[in-house]
Amino acid sequence: MADTDTPRTMRAWAVTEPGPVEADTPAPLRLVVKPVPVPRDDELLVRVRACGVCRTDLHVTEGDLPVRRPGVTPGHEVVGEVAAAGAAVRGFAVGDRVGVAWLRSTDGSCAYCLRGAENLCPASRYTGWDADGGYAEYTTVPADFAHRLPADVPDEASAPLLCAGIIGYRALRRAALPAGGRLGLYGFGGSAHLCAQVALAEGATVHVLTRGAAARRLALELGAASAGDAYAPPPEPLDSAVLFAPVGDLVPVALRALDRGGVLAIAGIHLSDIPPLHYESDLFYEKEVRSVTSNTRADAREFLALAARHGVRATTHAYPLSRALDALRDLKAGRFDGAAVLVNDLS
Ligand SMILES: [Zn+2]
Ligand SMILES: [Zn+2]
Repeated sequence: MADTDTPRTMRAWAVTEPGPVEADTPAPLRLVVKPVPVPRDDELLVRVRACGVCRTDLHVTEGDLPVRRPGVTPGHEVVGEVAAAGAAVRGFAVGDRVGVAWLRSTDGSCAYCLRGAENLCPASRYTGWDADGGYAEYTTVPADFAHRLPADVPDEASAPLLCAGIIGYRALRRAALPAGGRLGLYGFGGSAHLCAQVALAEGATVHVLTRGAAARRLALELGAASAGDAYAPPPEPLDSAVLFAPVGDLVPVALRALDRGGVLAIAGIHLSDIPPLHYESDLFYEKEVRSVTSNTRADAREFLALAARHGVRATTHAYPLSRALDALRDLKAGRFDGAAVLVNDLS
């Protein structure tokens, strides 16, 4: 089935010369004309309505992550509507509202997939890195990896839930926060401010440790017990902490802030080098440090359901899709708090 109004070509952003986003000549990301993708039998063609701007898009654009598809279109927090569906797709119809997230496909057959850890699948592929994503008028997604979205949350507020929200949720679970526990969040951008809302709704005491007055203000507005400098100790020892800032220097800082038996989860896909750890102050008394790698579809379903139940909302800053490069520049420079969302002004 297909929407007969679908055009043959579209405008899309492409990472043509990975490098610093501040550069103008050549700019790393350019608005180009591409064919509208044709969905495979198991895929949906999605008309993009909004697409969140994630720090991973910055890593893809600047070349911190290796190029996996030359000229890739970034974007993996896509809210759109089904414009066409492949012949083998069941359960979706043209016009349905769907979300497209980072995890695009897995093999479903390896040891990790079979034990429910599909986030570790060596054959996993990712939207906006291995395949073109949502900084475009249209994108595709395997139907098995498309997400249904809470009906009452507008497009712009839903987009950041699809990566920032899901990853923040997995990081929270990896941090093994006990019921009613004390949680520290290092860095307070798109992912952390959604993670904080889930933790607060579940009864945690949340301490936010970040630079930036606007981020601290947002943290306190959302209900954090304190908001202070990342390098200063929190007002009380922490049961769990999540490091959202991509700053390895903060790993020993966060470990020292943990109480005995505490767990630190590192949420980012990219982290600067971690300085040497001091065993007695940083790790002894059974402190743990854990990484967070992508997410499973089960994480996504659990988080989207919790987000609907607890009214989790992204604080967003809208940019027209035609200004995606400006949004990435502003993200890098820390010019907004919450999450940037590109709203399709191209079609
Ligand atoms: Zn992301
Ligand atoms: Zn697998």
